[in-house]
Amino acid sequence: MKCKVCGRELKGKGNICTYCYNEKQKQKRLDKDKNTNLVINSKYKPIYEFLKIVDFIILGIIIVMSCFVSENVLAIIASIVLLLAALVVWLLYRRNKIANTSMIFYDTKVVVKTKDKEKVMEYKDIADISYYQSWKQRICKMGDIRLMPENSIVIMQGLNIPDVGNVVKEFEKVKEVIAEKA
Ligand SMILES: [Zn+2]
Repeated sequence: MKCKVCGRELKGKGNICTYCYNEKQKQKRLDKDKNTNLVINSKYKPIYEFLKIVDFIILGIIIVMSCFVSENVLAIIASIVLLLAALVVWLLYRRNKIANTSMIFYDTKVVVKTKDKEKVMEYKDIADISYYQSWKQRICKMGDIRLMPENSIVIMQGLNIPDVGNVVKEFEKVKEVIAEKA
């Protein structure tokens, strides 16, 4: 007889191996846990979104100014319209993305939800918590909060919530919940 989930050869009775059984139980436990203790959201701050693409904006302004030098009215109008359109598209894209990103602290697990994805981590697997700020984020009092498992090298292995507003204060709340639940 073979395990109907992973195909491993079974020694005892039943149609599923111990490993798959434990995984199923764990999944059941995690699915049941719906009690929310804390929610951390990414924050949409227009000033930060401008700062994030400041190089691009400066380049755009230089292009608009060079059109002024050429005194070609059509080129001036076209470059301004393009620059503004690109800005609006960027801001709308970011607002939509950020409105759908949050980190939720349940009783046994932490979940990062984005528009099309969900990533789960159990408290017992969290080995390190930290926050990170780029200089642009620091100006806007924003930052990324990261929960990492043991021996992890890349962010992909842990949970990350980007662009949290008032990050120092929010990070304290995260530490409190993790200290209590872990
Ligand atoms: Zn199995």
